[in-house]
Amino acid sequence: MTRSKCPSCDYHEFEAVPVTTKTGQEFCLIQCVACGTVVGALDSVKITSVIKNAEKKLARFLANLNRKVVAVCNMKDTRP
Ligand SMILES: [Zn+2]
Repeated sequence: MTRSKCPSCDYHEFEAVPVTTKTGQEFCLIQCVACGTVVGALDSVKITSVIKNAEKKLARFLANLNRKVVAVCNMKDTRP
């Protein structure tokens, strides 16, 4: 995977900074941790849906994992 880097200073760590405009609109700026160059912006609705999607994926993953663990435990139980 290619590492993201800041167009200004080539640093590779970014932070999300929540911002609220005068009109009450909430969004997030993605900026370089080192120099503060803004490399992107997200509105909070999008962020929420990204988090929700991640939650769904995680829940599915955990459910899958649970099934596998249960299967392994059952296998152990049936061993002599
Ligand atoms: Zn930078």
